[in-house]
Amino acid sequence: MRMPLVAGNWKMNKMASEAVVFVNEIRPGLRAIPGVEKLIFPPATALMPLSALLDGSFSLGAQNLFWEAEGAYTGELSPKMLREFCQFVIIGHSERRTFFHESDLDVHRKVKAALEVGLRPVLCVGESLAQNEAGQAAAVVSSQLNAALDGVQIKSPGDLVIAYEPVWAIGTGKAATPDLTNTIHRNVIRATLQALYGSEIAEGIRILYGGSVNAHNAHSFFVQPEIDGALVGGASLKANEFVEITRAAAQS
Ligand code: PEP
Repeated sequence: MRMPLVAGNWKMNKMASEAVVFVNEIRPGLRAIPGVEKLIFPPATALMPLSALLDGSFSLGAQNLFWEAEGAYTGELSPKMLREFCQFVIIGHSERRTFFHESDLDVHRKVKAALEVGLRPVLCVGESLAQNEAGQAAAVVSSQLNAALDGVQIKSPGDLVIAYEPVWAIGTGKAATPDLTNTIHRNVIRATLQALYGSEIAEGIRILYGGSVNAHNAHSFFVQPEIDGALVGGASLKANEFVEITRAAAQS
């Protein structure tokens, strides 16, 4: 059994003080929802104050990391620095691939470096609109996964989370179709994980969907057998929406 996971990617939003107020607001609601893991990815400036609020009702993650352990890398944060305050890290988000030109090799280095210090990657993969329209979704997703995970050892299925995020669905209000998403999860992502790690590990790795998930459409994704939760952007900034999406995961 894979425990559903609902994760909020706040991107570059909320001051540290606002983050603390927000988490205090949603904590009672999250605590009352059993059987779902809740995860928040605030900006790095809010990780330290939010880590003081960790009480088992949610987990924390970073939105990025650098793969080197230490040294002359102005502006970067090492895996170990982040591990001090959080448990997960987003790697390979399409906004980083697009705006910061992160390559598949960069993503691969980050996945390895995160796992080495016990940070659990939420590895994002997904095709662009042009690739989707050209019928290349499956090929793109499987190539991104193989590149990111090349030679990467996984000890336990809980060490890794995959988020399928079609780029055209992120922040556009145009979510993907739940049954087509389920097919990509099963036939492409789970199948690739099986080839890399064997059935036992692959069956335990959670595969999230991300792209314009909200309280209204969340249930339609979560009823799909291969959709183990969601990576939520815009809707995770609203307290009620995030709690309602989490409730939908518990009910599905
Ligand atoms: C995201 O940024 O990972 C995301 C899925 O954003 P949104 O929910 O706003 O589409």
